[in-house]
Amino acid sequence: MSRVSSLKSVVEHGLCANCGICESMAGRDKVEMRLTSYGHLRPQIKGAIDQDVEARILEVCPGAVVTGPTAADPEGFGAIDPVWGPVVSIHRSWAGDPAIRHRAAAGGTLTALGCYLLQSGEVDAIVHVKAATTDPILTDAHVSYTPAEVIEGSQSRYGPGAPLVHIDALLARGLRLAVIAKPCDIAAIRNLARVDARARTLVKYCLTLFCGGVPSTGTAKDIAAHFGVAAEELSLFRWRGYGWPGTTHLETRDGRSFDLTYDDAWYNPQASWTYDMQFRCKICPDAIGELADVAAPDGWIMENGVPIHREGQGVNIAIARTRAGARLIERAAAAGALALDRFSVPELYPMHGDHLDRKLGQPARNLGLACAGQPHLRVRRYRPLAMILRAGFMGNWRAFWGALRRGLKGANREAGI
Ligand SMILES: Cc1cc2nc3c(=O)[nH]c(=O)nc-3n(C[C@H](O)[C@H](O)[C@H](O)COP(=O)(O)OP(=O)(O)OC[C@H]3O[C@@H](n4cnc5c(N)ncnc54)[C@H](O)[C@@H]3O)c2cc1C
Ligand code: SF4
Ligand code: SF4
Repeated sequence: MSRVSSLKSVVEHGLCANCGICESMAGRDKVEMRLTSYGHLRPQIKGAIDQDVEARILEVCPGAVVTGPTAADPEGFGAIDPVWGPVVSIHRSWAGDPAIRHRAAAGGTLTALGCYLLQSGEVDAIVHVKAATTDPILTDAHVSYTPAEVIEGSQSRYGPGAPLVHIDALLARGLRLAVIAKPCDIAAIRNLARVDARARTLVKYCLTLFCGGVPSTGTAKDIAAHFGVAAEELSLFRWRGYGWPGTTHLETRDGRSFDLTYDDAWYNPQASWTYDMQFRCKICPDAIGELADVAAPDGWIMENGVPIHREGQGVNIAIARTRAGARLIERAAAAGALALDRFSVPELYPMHGDHLDRKLGQPARNLGLACAGQPHLRVRRYRPLAMILRAGFMGNWRAFWGALRRGLKGANREAGI
């Protein structure tokens, strides 16, 4: 079976998740995250990388390897549900501060936890992202040292961002960190902790979301074009927030503004834009944040057994995956930073059933890629047998055949910068 052998081959075979940790490990003079002509952030190799450094990066890169949780891990993962991963506790949750709740993507759970960790002095900085100041379609890695900065970085950025580009420099300064990022970014941090003792001691918490995938910047540009606006005219592009889910809200430098409801933005079959997810997202073994201390997806309102997106006050589901995560949620709730209500694991099936196809089909997809002779992800400890059994014959066949076809046609391939 073919494995990725270099950073270049991670990118060329569509496996890059755009986490940015390779830039942080190699140094920006050697590797720099750059926007490609096709609208994704990818590492550009600028100088010769030392062989040992590249080998170390490939141990950490979530486009090369992802290692799932075990209940015996020192991180203290809880009992592992075969589909939904480790769970120590699970609640509906939202920020205690109504302003955070209103501004955030959903209930503001991640922002509230970030603020609480800084206020309680448990960490020195929060590593996350925010809309770029230069171009509102782009997303910058953001390091927050105050609650106000954490709040500034709240909301979802459905586009490329490289949250981990500063990690090495922050660890070198000996700062205690919490990372709020996508599940693949958290996988990179957990991989790093295996090879870097600083990450083991200094990264105190990993907080994440459920992730449908990252589209290119083309999606935001096409949405702007739908309103007759060129990307250069934009002064603001907010995907959601200021309400729940809130509208996709655009503002131009000359004072015009435009809105799309969540359903129009995501589920309108007549839409002139598509969500062209990067290939890595299509084969993602863990878009539900199994490796985080806390995962906080939307806590959608359910009607007739399906999630609806009617505007309301934001709610998350706070899934504590580690014991440390569960204790953090308890402390934040006791301090009034977080409000909690009852929820249970079986309720995840109807609420987040859109994640099942990709999750259960992952082993078959990886096999399909391998049979097409394509380098593929090294996926460890993600319960392949349980996934295969639950996917059923047709589910496995569709996943296998789809990946095989894509691999044979080279549809996974990327041109690089
Ligand atoms: C690409 C993407 C796909 C998503 N797919 C799903 C899904 O399938 N199902 C679901 O339930 N929820 C999904 N969400 C998550 C959802 O939109 C909320 O972000 C999440 O529920 C957290 O809500 P919150 O109110 O606690 O977040 P907030 O309090 O608003 O905090 C969000 C935090 O996430 C960070 N962040 C935002 N975007 C990114 C990014 N691109 N990369 C790294 N960090 C980021 C922000 O900096 C902020 O710290 C997705 C989010 C993103 C960014
Ligand atoms: S997944 Fe992350 S570490 Fe791997 S190549 Fe992409 S940006 Fe670099
Ligand atoms: S779907 Fe997976 S690979 Fe893609 S951005 Fe989300 S967590 Fe990362």
